[in-house]
Amino acid sequence: MAIRKVAQLGHPILRKVAEPVDSAQILTPEFQRLCDDLLETMGAYDGLGLAAPQIHESIRLLVFQLDSEEEPLFLINPVITPTTALLSAGYEGCLSVTGMRGRVERPDAIRVECLDRDAKKFAFVAEGWAARVVQHECDHLDGVLYIDRADPRSMAFMAEYRKFGPLVPTGEEDEEGPEEGGEE
Ligand code: ZN
Repeated sequence: MAIRKVAQLGHPILRKVAEPVDSAQILTPEFQRLCDDLLETMGAYDGLGLAAPQIHESIRLLVFQLDSEEEPLFLINPVITPTTALLSAGYEGCLSVTGMRGRVERPDAIRVECLDRDAKKFAFVAEGWAARVVQHECDHLDGVLYIDRADPRSMAFMAEYRKFGPLVPTGEEDEEGPEEGGEE
């Protein structure tokens, strides 16, 4: 396992559409090592999620873990479909856009279909904060960053965000996510 360098805004790999993973590759030691590296890097940077392009691997793989008590989930070749027309607003951060937060509206619930790191198909419905994190990570696989979707007038550096709070309210005073949002 190794902690990898996280690509920062301006690196072209963050803007590429990542390649699908060949399912025959998933069980190889190389791919499994990459999964371990992705998880270890996410942990080292205190992220809630991390997509492979962020560690300079342009493939459709991501990991997320909202709660350290739960097992991390690896999603390979994920396909997401909103299951509600309801949009919810929340502040997001990104390990590739260090030290900022911005307000993004996204569907509040999604269905996810993908492979896991054992190359098995699985599907689940994610809601609320989990739906937000998965959509943020899936965007990375398409070369999209949350700042592309954020209300530009909501953008803030962390120090100012802590001091002044959200410049544009989310409309959810008791947002269930972490108080300062997480980095993904
Ligand atoms: Zn991100």
